[in-house]
Amino acid sequence: MITEIAKGNAYDVALENFDTAADAMELDNDIREMIKYPERVLMVTVPVRMDNGHIHRFEGYRVQHSMVRGPAKGGIRYHPQVTLDEVKALATWMTWKCAVVNIPFGGAKGGITCDPKHMSLRELERMTRRYTSAILPLIGPERDIPAPDVYTNSQTMAWIMDTYSMTKGYPIPGVVTGKPISLGGSLGRNEATGRGVFYTIQCACEHLNIPLDHATVAVQGFGNAGSITAQLLHSAGAKVIAVSDSTGCVYSKNGLDIPELIHMKALCGHVQGFPESEPISAAELLALKCDILVPAALENTIRADNASAVKAKIIAEAANGPLNPAADRILEGKGVFVIPDILCNAGGVTVSYFEWVQDEQHLFWEAQDVYDRLERVMKTAFREVLKVQQDRKVPMRIAANMLGIGRVAEAVQLRSIYP
Ligand code: GLU
Repeated sequence: MITEIAKGNAYDVALENFDTAADAMELDNDIREMIKYPERVLMVTVPVRMDNGHIHRFEGYRVQHSMVRGPAKGGIRYHPQVTLDEVKALATWMTWKCAVVNIPFGGAKGGITCDPKHMSLRELERMTRRYTSAILPLIGPERDIPAPDVYTNSQTMAWIMDTYSMTKGYPIPGVVTGKPISLGGSLGRNEATGRGVFYTIQCACEHLNIPLDHATVAVQGFGNAGSITAQLLHSAGAKVIAVSDSTGCVYSKNGLDIPELIHMKALCGHVQGFPESEPISAAELLALKCDILVPAALENTIRADNASAVKAKIIAEAANGPLNPAADRILEGKGVFVIPDILCNAGGVTVSYFEWVQDEQHLFWEAQDVYDRLERVMKTAFREVLKVQQDRKVPMRIAANMLGIGRVAEAVQLRSIYP
């Protein structure tokens, strides 16, 4: 088991975290059987005519883990390391995540094993449309609603929305969230994950008496979640001393100019070589002396082999699954306060829910309205998880899982079993 996890099987981690929380809750075995595993798994072949005229076959997935509390919800990931097990893990985490923030969705996830950085826009469009038509029987505004994830964005969602709508014969914006505003997207959705991470960091700092405007921060991963979290922390007066992306890490003990760094990343595609910074290694970034460490890239970043080096007081999981259970145990022993992924990064799916509600009503909200509602949802969820942590004397991750799993368990008990 441990070797499997050391190799980084995210689904093993998802199952282990489920069992730990279910044991702590003394959850009934029949209920466990009903809610632990994905309800539906679809694997599809996605043949695409590449720009060179040849056909390349990609493998795609859509996993619906749960529809107990509402339609399945979750992003679509394009990445060379996408596997069925990874998608199953991410779908499972979506179920508990939606339940933790108490929005009426179940969990799903999709993915295509591909290298989007080496594909043209037209190739990406053809791949997205073919994948959409392959998963068409599963998705829809009332059953399963995709959204952006790693290396997908509002343009990807626009292609999915168009393909789905053309097939049905009329426009159906509610089939995806994270769309462009002009197609029925919500204001505030693009920055929602980072904004949600920021709100939970505010709560954690308050709880631990760490003044945020004097805090030092290291951010691993500078995509949508990482860069917006860094930006909001920087605006709140925190000093972001290190940032990394897949090409390298930059460090400045006086703090990096985050708006400038975002500007450079948009222009050049990387953070390396940022003026007035020095390069450090990925291992050095994770081991920096700082108040807040934000892993904002992929799963399995902090493990048994590097967790003891962490010196941060708070870890805010902007990514899904960045810590494995071995790392959790080490960090718990060191007294590090972990804001677990299913709470920390739930801002994205929360504003996805707001977007879906707006689409259903054909009535759109102002940005401030979205931010205020998001802040309320995130801070309420933080308080509720913290209460379980304190009442049951368990780590934050187990507390968040107990809250989420408990809500799904209650719903399944009420619905009972069909037939
Ligand atoms: N991909 C995001 C996540 O992992 C957002 C999912 C959504 O909005 O449906 O939470």
